[in-house]
Amino acid sequence: MNSKVRVRFAPSPTGPLHIGGLRTALYNYLFAKKHEGTFILRVEDTDNSRYVEGAEDYIKEALDWCGLTPDESPFHDGEFGPYRQSERKAIYKDYAQQLIDNGHAYYAFDTPEDLDKLRQEQEAFGDKFIYGAHNRNELNNSLKVSEKETLEYIESGKPYVIRFKMPMAKQLAIRDNIRGNIQIKTNDLDDKILFKSDGMPTYHLANIVDDHLMEITHVIRGEEWLPSLALHVLLYDAFGWKAPKFAHLPLILKPFGKGKLSKRDGDKHGFPVFPLEWKDPATGAISSGYREEFYLPEATINMLALLGWNDGTEQELYSLEELVDKFSIERVHKAGAKFNPEKTKWFQHQYIQKVDDSVLAEEFKDWLRAEKQIETTLDFTLKIVSLLKERLTFMPDLWNESYFFFQAPTQFNPKSSKKAWKEDTAPIMTNFISFLEAETDFSKEQIQPKIKGWITDQGLGFGKVMMPLRLALVGDMKGPDVFEMVSLLGKTEAINRLKFALNTLN
Ligand code: GLU
Repeated sequence: MNSKVRVRFAPSPTGPLHIGGLRTALYNYLFAKKHEGTFILRVEDTDNSRYVEGAEDYIKEALDWCGLTPDESPFHDGEFGPYRQSERKAIYKDYAQQLIDNGHAYYAFDTPEDLDKLRQEQEAFGDKFIYGAHNRNELNNSLKVSEKETLEYIESGKPYVIRFKMPMAKQLAIRDNIRGNIQIKTNDLDDKILFKSDGMPTYHLANIVDDHLMEITHVIRGEEWLPSLALHVLLYDAFGWKAPKFAHLPLILKPFGKGKLSKRDGDKHGFPVFPLEWKDPATGAISSGYREEFYLPEATINMLALLGWNDGTEQELYSLEELVDKFSIERVHKAGAKFNPEKTKWFQHQYIQKVDDSVLAEEFKDWLRAEKQIETTLDFTLKIVSLLKERLTFMPDLWNESYFFFQAPTQFNPKSSKKAWKEDTAPIMTNFISFLEAETDFSKEQIQPKIKGWITDQGLGFGKVMMPLRLALVGDMKGPDVFEMVSLLGKTEAINRLKFALNTLN
């Protein structure tokens, strides 16, 4: 493959980036890096009415969080800027003009009211109104009225749009690197607007012009753009430009039922569909994000990479570097990929296990201070992390698995109490406390054999002591190894908790 691969991720800043969009960015990134090419972020913000405050920053932050920082972008200039279409406004008009001059486009003066009327008339017949080859000569445009009139209209300030003159009855064969050859007939296609009355290009024109000027070699984007493909290829032809190669990615589907994964699915089943938390500037509504839900970016990326691609082996865990190495567009699936919330957690579990204990301990210590106003030492959180790491999927799980190290029980789970605290437990525990009071070394290595020895000497069953002991320390029949707990809590605290249980449960 040539070494000048240039690909772009071209989102419109109309809201938070959906994980489907993030996957598009990821595949573009992987493809670029695999071929030692350039990954570009181009912000497609020509539609003023859909612009949403903060959306562009969100896109940048999300890409950075995932380690997919573009080589060229509005935030990192290259030779092909500006990378924000609103800043390229002056460029597009000339290109629209070029198409008018070479007969591939025309001015249309139809007012929105005219078009609405025509639409309604057609709908009354159960048809759809299409502005195209079959009727364009009867409508109010520069193909119908004379050149003189056209000029007069324009000079008098009459609003107009510029439309593409869709060729009639042409059969197109277009190659898609994922889908193979696609046959499209132009008959049913309309004369799309290329340039709007507000002086801005539409997506179609701006997108093609920019892909050309930015020397994009491969367009990798979502399947929802497939219906625009014919127009885009024809636009390249009309300009006399070589079209890039195309690859349309499969949809990400709902985990349950049919259709595209939506924000509503996430709300309903409690998983994020956005990489970062998003606060809607209009309503203030918050949508959860992978980052804020404590997913690691590595897990998020790995999960997304496999939603629509695999390398043909059973391997599931890949670092970003490995993905770059293994990725190929040809192995991207044609069929939609079902999002799997459980599998997503599985990836997170795998990745958190790879994080260094000391890193988790540091984070947990900070988390305890911020969320629970608990001050503790790194030494202590490190012990907790090494004890409980295997049970972790998300950072806050550490708290759920260890809160009793920081707070003595104030009550006891009734069901567990019934099971663990019997008629004869009180005298046993009273003796047990006296035994512990005489001990001095509470390191696990020392205290474990001592306790075991004491139980044997007393001629008791193991459960007779271990169960009420666990209940006293935790308030419930859960938690890690009892000896670890005794040792971590230390002599005073362990005995205090036993005494409290004794008083409370009798
Ligand atoms: N601006 C389009 C979007 O929002 C870009 C589509 C494309 O990649 O051509 O997805």
